[in-house]
Amino acid sequence: MKIGIDAGGTLIKIAILENDKFTFRKQLSTEIDEVAEWLKTVPDAQVALTGGKATYLQSLIPQNAFQSIEFDATFRGIQSFLIEMNLDISKFVFSNVGTGTSIHFVDNGKQIRAGGTGAGGGMMMGLSYLLTGKEDFDEIVTIAKEGNRDIIDLKVKHIYKGDKTPIPGELTAANFGNVLHNKDTENFSDADKIASVLGIVGETVTTVSIHAAREFGAEYVVYIGSSFLNNTLLRDIVMNYTVLRNFKPYFIENGEYSGAVGTLRLM
Ligand code: ADP
Repeated sequence: MKIGIDAGGTLIKIAILENDKFTFRKQLSTEIDEVAEWLKTVPDAQVALTGGKATYLQSLIPQNAFQSIEFDATFRGIQSFLIEMNLDISKFVFSNVGTGTSIHFVDNGKQIRAGGTGAGGGMMMGLSYLLTGKEDFDEIVTIAKEGNRDIIDLKVKHIYKGDKTPIPGELTAANFGNVLHNKDTENFSDADKIASVLGIVGETVTTVSIHAAREFGAEYVVYIGSSFLNNTLLRDIVMNYTVLRNFKPYFIENGEYSGAVGTLRLM
């Protein structure tokens, strides 16, 4: 048995390879001791680690694990997933929307880091909690779908009030910029607030990603990371905005396991 583990800031992603087949599971990073206890029960497994908590996890387990740099591991994992998807793209940007967001440019089988932003899954959780007191990921992504961003975010069309707009009227002019215009007439629900949090996260991630794509002359932007899990609103925001800006977005199924699969493949 081979086990690839990406021990990240929020989640530990585990990819288990047996009989040429992967199974995936994840656990909270705060439960790293449980992962170590499980690894002790499979002492003969070949283990490959990556991620910010890899060295700490190594200190807890009996296996002498292989370790790789998380950017290289993630890229290697993405390559495996793209082959599985029969997606033949060689020049692209990938954006890993984890606790934070890391953006990379790929060409000719090599990745370089193109930048990043502190807007990502961690911001989504933290800001949602500050605004609503909610902290359960599944609840947050579910409730977000019911929200109305129009009363919180200021769109270009709100400013131009029916006049001809120089850029699409549906674009956000100012995230949270409509709040004070509506404070006397609207009650902002938790769903409205969380939907707007997903808005600022999704739009920031997309803006930074497509700027990288434009800088490097890439047509495709591949998005991965656990922030997108069951998160149809965030996916839609990112997909629609990427398309609107004339780039081609791809989401990889199980893409959040790219680091775990990649470090195992690099072993
Ligand atoms: P990292 O490697 O930094 O842990 P991930 O790609 O695993 O990054 O993404 C972490 C983000 O995924 C969190 O910030 C949160 O938005 C989201 N997430 C998805 N599922 C969960 C969960 N069960 N508990 C907490 N956060 C989750």
